[in-house]
Amino acid sequence: MSLKNVIAIDGPAASGKSTIAQRVADRLGGYYISTGNMYRAITYFAMCNGLEMSGEPDAARMDGILKNLALSYARDCKGKLNLLINGDSADTEIRSPEVAKHVSKIAAMPNVRSWLIGKQRDLALLGLVIMEGRDIGTVIFPDAKYKFFLTASPEVRARRRLAQAGETPAGATVASVAKEIAARDEMDSKREIAPLKKADDAIFIDSSRMTIDEVVELIESRIKGIPAGN
Ligand code: C5P
Repeated sequence: MSLKNVIAIDGPAASGKSTIAQRVADRLGGYYISTGNMYRAITYFAMCNGLEMSGEPDAARMDGILKNLALSYARDCKGKLNLLINGDSADTEIRSPEVAKHVSKIAAMPNVRSWLIGKQRDLALLGLVIMEGRDIGTVIFPDAKYKFFLTASPEVRARRRLAQAGETPAGATVASVAKEIAARDEMDSKREIAPLKKADDAIFIDSSRMTIDEVVELIESRIKGIPAGN
């Protein structure tokens, strides 16, 4: 049985997943969900609660921190879902370079991933969901009918990330951003649990030379089963 209400979009850092997934969700009337933001929220909350980030984070301390954390969603007036940390919005904080620096370490922790897996799967109960991340097509929804793996060249991804206000440190360059996202991709691909990986049945899209509209059209054409551009 394949899950027809889940569109899974995976791919490396800054590959354009959120822009594309949001656009597809708007056009199809579904919910856009960034699972990266959930890992970022946990990282931010752990940092606020004094989890030592140099070296390996302490798993037992993280268990205690997770016990005091509730992630939830509020629907805005347009029906979009906004992630809340213990009832508060922290959109700007979770996208900060500080959080980006530590998130892969936190996302590799088994207790963090098992804390999130059921919550992520439950979101499919909402209806049509366009969920993006690293392991959506492989682990969270291996039965999703529609799976895409989106990437772009390291330089294109670095330029796209630099263009996003507030997400890179002051003075960042294409080279420094490319280095940061390469380090994150390496950790995400090499971890033991749920590594960043294309699902065998996912459609691979290299968006290096494509516009946002072209990628969205391609995805929609695959969902509807009609050739792109028709
Ligand atoms: O998508 P974004 O770049 O915001 O994700 C931040 C980090 O969260 C990733 O680098 C990865 O470490 C982690 N992540 C993950 N599994 C997902 C989504 C994100 O491990 N499904």
